[in-house]
Order: sequence, then structure tokens, then C-alpha cells
Amino acid sequence: MSDNAQTALAQRARHLDSEHLATDRRDAFVLPEGVIYLDGNSLGAMSVAARDATADAVTRQWGQQLIRAWNESAWWTAPERVGDRIASLVGAPSGSVVVGDSTTISLFKAVHAAARLRPDRRVVLTDPDSFPTDVHVTRGVCDQLGLTLELVSPRDAVARLEGSNDVALAAYSHVDYRTGELWDLAAITEAAHQVGALACWDLCHSAGVVDVGLTEGAADFAVGCGYKYLSGGPGAPAFLFVAPQHLAEFTNPILGWNGHAAPFAMSPDHVPADGITRARVGTPPVLGIAALEGALTAYEGLDMGDVRRRSLSLTGFFVECLDALGVDLPIVTPRDDRRGSQVSLRHPAAYAVVQALIARGVIGDFREPDIVRLGFAPLYLSHEDVLTAARHLRDVIDGAEFARPEHAARAAVT
Ligand SMILES: *Cc1c(COP(=O)(O)O)cnc(C)c1O
Repeated sequence: MSDNAQTALAQRARHLDSEHLATDRRDAFVLPEGVIYLDGNSLGAMSVAARDATADAVTRQWGQQLIRAWNESAWWTAPERVGDRIASLVGAPSGSVVVGDSTTISLFKAVHAAARLRPDRRVVLTDPDSFPTDVHVTRGVCDQLGLTLELVSPRDAVARLEGSNDVALAAYSHVDYRTGELWDLAAITEAAHQVGALACWDLCHSAGVVDVGLTEGAADFAVGCGYKYLSGGPGAPAFLFVAPQHLAEFTNPILGWNGHAAPFAMSPDHVPADGITRARVGTPPVLGIAALEGALTAYEGLDMGDVRRRSLSLTGFFVECLDALGVDLPIVTPRDDRRGSQVSLRHPAAYAVVQALIARGVIGDFREPDIVRLGFAPLYLSHEDVLTAARHLRDVIDGAEFARPEHAARAAVT
């Protein structure tokens, strides 16, 4: 590549960064020196506010307030309060989102409750290429309720739904965790509704980066992860959305005391609470919620449409850099706007390519069988970072660094 072309690319990075200055929240995050972090889709980076909120929850609230903190620091109502913050990011009304359990458990609650809202229907659709827990949970619910699980790609979901009368629920991910493909939430939901079925969406890879629009897309149920782009910290609680019109009929498959109308009445009879509170189960993970609540302050003052535009600009610019730098690995992520906030590439030695990148300070991850997966968290990455990462990838490929024996050894978590 000529010096002129190199300079042009660097200038373009700086120009794009100035265009997207209003959504730059780099200063809100703590990242190690010399690291370009392209794994915010797996474990979002730590923010100053998340760290401080955690320290405060431990030291002052737990340490000093002790049991009084349930009231004085409003621990008891944190699942709904933090749910409201997430609702505003995913285009849902307040009072429709609660946090507290893992994504897996939240999905179980959503799929189970949704299927029971259509007792005359026998089929649940899900994507065979979903993140495995989504397929496992959906299969488990079908086994328990005597339903049939049908594995249908989201690509074919509208056609499968059209004219059918057997589908209770279409349960899909908004963004494919491996390829980064963004599916049409509104179109699949509409096709489901046309035939009397419901739609449940997994927002693990879209919450915090895509202007999801749950109300606009008429989604019935949704779940999503707290520790990915939302940066809530390792094992952060997930969230569950129930559309307001379903709340009165929503039956929590795990009847716990936190979902009770009067938990401290200590009654053996279960009376579900009104509203989204009935989706709660047991005592919330207070420290995890505190970290998540702190992390979500990074979105204050931001419009999700602007965040989405920044995200598309970062991923689009990465592809532009790869093209300009002559890195010709197959890109499995759509080049048009039908993508989340990641770029996935194929390479026969994908695992070793990722290890070689990590050795250079560019942290991404590997997904079976041959995917180099690079996530671009819009709040703390710049276009200059993107260009630097693309150059490192070029050097890893051109210099065959991935072939070094030290990059072949696999750890437990890839
Ligand atoms: C990350 C992810 C999960 C994780 O579920 P946990 O219960 O947090 O382990 C589930 N589904 C999808 C689509 C994911 O991307």
C-alpha cells in the first residue's frame, strides 16, 4: 500500500472520529494501556461508574447500612429500576423490563410463559444456529409442555409462518452471535402475529448497540445480556421484557416469593404481583445489579440512533480498512446494514489468528469452527483504534504469525 493511501486512511479515521464525537464515551471506561478491545460483545469493558457503584454497594451499603440497605439503598426495587434504564435503550416502555436472572433463566421464563399463552398451538420455532443455550432452553420448554421444537433459520421464518396455524411462538436472536447478521425483528414478529403466534427476541448481541425498537417492532417478549455491550461486569444479571399487553396473563414458570404480590406477607398461597414484578423469582443479585446500574450511566444523554450510527460506522470502516490493506479473509458478516456491531472473518487457523492478535494487544475471540470474531463496542472504540486493529490483523496474516506454535494451545474459554 502506498504512503499516500496510508495517509488517506489515517485521515479518514480522524475525520470519522470527529463526525462521531458526540457519542464518544471513551473517558467513561477504564481500559489497559496498549489494548484495543474488540471483545465488548463477550465481556464489556469496565467503566469508572460501574467500578465506583460496585465499591459503594460493597463498602457503604453492605458494609455500613447492612440489612437497612434493602430500603435505604433501594436494593429491593433495583430489578425494576435498572430494568427501566434498559427499557429506554431497547425502545420499551418503563415497567416492562426487569433484571435479575441469567439470560438462560430469563429465556426459560419468557419462552415458557409465551408458549402457555397459545395453548392451542403445538410448535415453537427457533434457529438451529442460535447460541446453544437458546436451543437447549427452547427444547427443554417444548419437552416439558409437550410441544414440538422446529429448527428453522430466521432467514426462512417468515415463509414458515405464512399461512400456518400450528405455531405458538417464534423465538429468535436479533443478531447472530457468530456471524453478526441482524435479523428483521419487526418483519418476523409481524409474520408471527399474522397467524396468531407470538415472538420472543434474544437481544444479547443488540442491546446497547442497535436501536432495537421493541415497541415499534411489536415484540411480545425479549431477553438480553447484561455483561456484553452493556458492560455490567462478569456474570452481570440479564433482563427480561414482557410487552405490557401480556403482563396480566404472564405466568412465571418459576413461582418464587419475589414475584409475589406481597412477599413479606409470607403467605403459602401464590398471588402474582402486578406488572413486570411478577417476572421476578428470588432475591436479586444486588452487587451484580449495582455494577450494571453504574455501567448504564454511560448511555446517559445518548440517543440510541446515534449510537447505532457510530457502531455501523466503526464496523463499516473496519471492512473498508481490510479492503484497503489487502486483507482478503472471507467476511461472513453482511456488508450492508443488516449487521450488529461485530465483524466476523473466516480463517482455517482462526483460533491461532486470534491468539496472535491478542499477543499484539488486539483482543477479539474465536468461535467454532473457523471464525475470528471482532466486536466493536461503540462507546469506547474510535475509528483510529479500528485502523490500528486492521493493520495488526494484516501483519498477523501477512507474516503468518498465526503459525507460531505458542498460538495453537487452547484455553478453556476461547
Ligand atoms: C451470551 C449469550 C447467552 C448467555 O447466556 P448466559 O445465561 O448468560 O450464560 C445466551 N444467548 C445468547 C444469544 C448469547 O449471545
